[in-house]
Amino acid sequence: MEPSKSLPVAERPRRPEWMRVRAPSRDSRYFEVRELLHGQRLATICEEARCPNIGECWGRGTATFQILGETCTRACRYCYVHSGRPDAPPDPLEPLRLAQTAKQMGLSHVVVTSVDRDDLPDRGAGQFAAVTRALARILPAASVELLTPDFLGVEEEALLTVLAERPQVLGHNIETVRRLHRSMRGAKADYDGALALLARAKELARYPVLTKSGLIVGLGETNDEVLETMRNLRAHGVDVVTIGQYLRPSPKHAAIDRWVHPDEFRAFREEGERMGFGSVFAGPLVRSSYRADEQRHAAESGRGAVAY
Ligand code: SF4
Repeated sequence: MEPSKSLPVAERPRRPEWMRVRAPSRDSRYFEVRELLHGQRLATICEEARCPNIGECWGRGTATFQILGETCTRACRYCYVHSGRPDAPPDPLEPLRLAQTAKQMGLSHVVVTSVDRDDLPDRGAGQFAAVTRALARILPAASVELLTPDFLGVEEEALLTVLAERPQVLGHNIETVRRLHRSMRGAKADYDGALALLARAKELARYPVLTKSGLIVGLGETNDEVLETMRNLRAHGVDVVTIGQYLRPSPKHAAIDRWVHPDEFRAFREEGERMGFGSVFAGPLVRSSYRADEQRHAAESGRGAVAY
């Protein structure tokens, strides 16, 4: 695949038409979902990360829960989530509130992620496990997808804690290519560590867990580097991969290096299928939790690459 070239800032086009998003509509479930989530004091990555798909996803009655507070102990250059020192321990009632809310929303697939909590001895693994347990009790028919941080320094114990509750999908986003990993994610981030975590999850699970990872593009990588990262993920047993365009959440964040064309995303999907992923979701507005229920079904039914 031809690597697409970065343009000087002055020549960079404004947001192309394929990046246009749907605004929340009055006749969708958007406002009902918002009221429910705010009323239960539950955070979502949809709001915290200013996701462009919020109108569509909440309008469909879905959302991705963000547990363990609203302050992240890391400061990735592309991420809008607030960075700092969290001032509270995990909320012991959060798992119950989350499970009850997921039930009220009528979710059949519940996606849960978190801020990084390097301040906690277990890096938050216990709260992921407690949420999964609460969901199993209150909404037993739903499948559970956990998109976890890297559990730095306690990877093995944290994976064992989380996998003991048997989530159907365990994801960890590698986010960017090897060359940009440290500069975008900070000194604690480790490209090979992320791959190792995903591989180890498969080894430790005593059931057929689906593993998943995601990349954002437009941060300065080339298409060949994206393909190399996909090959690395596949070599570490990852089943589901997502690839989407980076959007700069504020002027303080990393600049957009390029707009990746829909044809380039199509090429990622085709290459991903050839590599043997169970599912490849690649498209301008794809995020790791975008239509996560469909990603899971695609992987389980062997449908392969899906265009969005
Ligand atoms: S793509 Fe994910 S984070 Fe974005 S609105 Fe949808 S569920 Fe929320």
